[in-house]
Amino acid sequence: MKTVYVDNNATTKVAPEVVEVMRPYFSEFYGNPSSMHFFGGQVQKKVNDAREQAADFLGAEPSEIVFTSCGTESDNAAILGTLDSYPEKRHFVTTRVEHPAVGNVSTYLGRKGYRVTELPVDREGRLDLDVVRETVNEGTVLVSIMYANNETGVIFPIEQIGEIVKGKGIPFHTDAVQAAGKIPLNMKKSSVDMLSISGHKLHAPKGIGILYIRKGTKFSPFLIGGHQEKGRRGGTENVPYIIGLGKACELAKKHLDDENTRVRALRDYLEKKILETIPNVLVNGDGTNRLPNTVSVSFEYVEGESILLLLSDLGICASSGSACTSGSLEPSHVLRAMGVPFTAAHGSIRFSLSIYNTKEEMDYIIEHLPPIITRLRDISPFWKDYVKSKAKK
Ligand code: PLP
Repeated sequence: MKTVYVDNNATTKVAPEVVEVMRPYFSEFYGNPSSMHFFGGQVQKKVNDAREQAADFLGAEPSEIVFTSCGTESDNAAILGTLDSYPEKRHFVTTRVEHPAVGNVSTYLGRKGYRVTELPVDREGRLDLDVVRETVNEGTVLVSIMYANNETGVIFPIEQIGEIVKGKGIPFHTDAVQAAGKIPLNMKKSSVDMLSISGHKLHAPKGIGILYIRKGTKFSPFLIGGHQEKGRRGGTENVPYIIGLGKACELAKKHLDDENTRVRALRDYLEKKILETIPNVLVNGDGTNRLPNTVSVSFEYVEGESILLLLSDLGICASSGSACTSGSLEPSHVLRAMGVPFTAAHGSIRFSLSIYNTKEEMDYIIEHLPPIITRLRDISPFWKDYVKSKAKK
């Protein structure tokens, strides 16, 4: 069966070039980078090269790059490592639309007695900067706000937020897991103190990430252990994955223009065709400040999961905006925070593209999606009620 993979915000294909550079470091050059002998030394050199590639990608210094095991670890380390450095401060600020890697840490901190502010968003998924300004004060230990949303692709004005936060002398972390590789990031010109990246969202394998920590930022290690990563993250380095991520960063820098032109054009084409061919469809999130690869669409009066299953039968892999919690399908916290109406939030689908997608694949989706929606609406009591109520008017 044909596979059309448009779920790249969930995970991406590992680039063949990345697999290639990783391969020798499993069973040929398997030394420990901390070893004194030449066999460890040659591996250490490759880890250093990868750190330079990552730094170059982010406009950072190599010494500001800490390799972690994933985006979740980077987020947890940034938050808990900062809190540990400022034990006297007890106010944590984030948003209502974060990934659970930050959102559930926020809930945990609330349980631990921290005062937590989760900033609201508007119907387009945007933050109000005046509210940020009013919320952050000298008692705030850290502000952690995502760069771009994984469900809607909405991009927050991170530099403007950073200026507000830094203006008050408060540390600022951003979860850039979805932004990295899709929009330019330059830490040299940034007000961000810490930034999280996950390898598997940018064509490196699962199980590797980066925490960027600006020079001079107060930070206590989350993983306490050996002297690795300059004492900021204990544990023997995951050498092949670090080398792979270095290569992925190099490729991501090279492909940034392609993401912003060709991938954007494919996404826009898909979105336009969906809106043209299917009635009662909403696009979720700020249309202008959005990742070039993401579109979240709500098909009114149908269930997202049913759409996904029928798409999956045709080899199309997307994802829905619902989370199965305690047996009931709840619309995602992101769409709820945006106030997307119940009838639309349940029928939300996210398509997220990558440089490996083609126009033919978009056409394949556009050919099959409208009949799926018609078929599901034909058996939907909510759609029938809606059609009846429209006829009465
Ligand atoms: N942050 C965001 C915005 C994400 O989308 C994800 C993964 O979906 C993560 C963090 C977690 O990354 P990882 O899967 O590498 O732990």
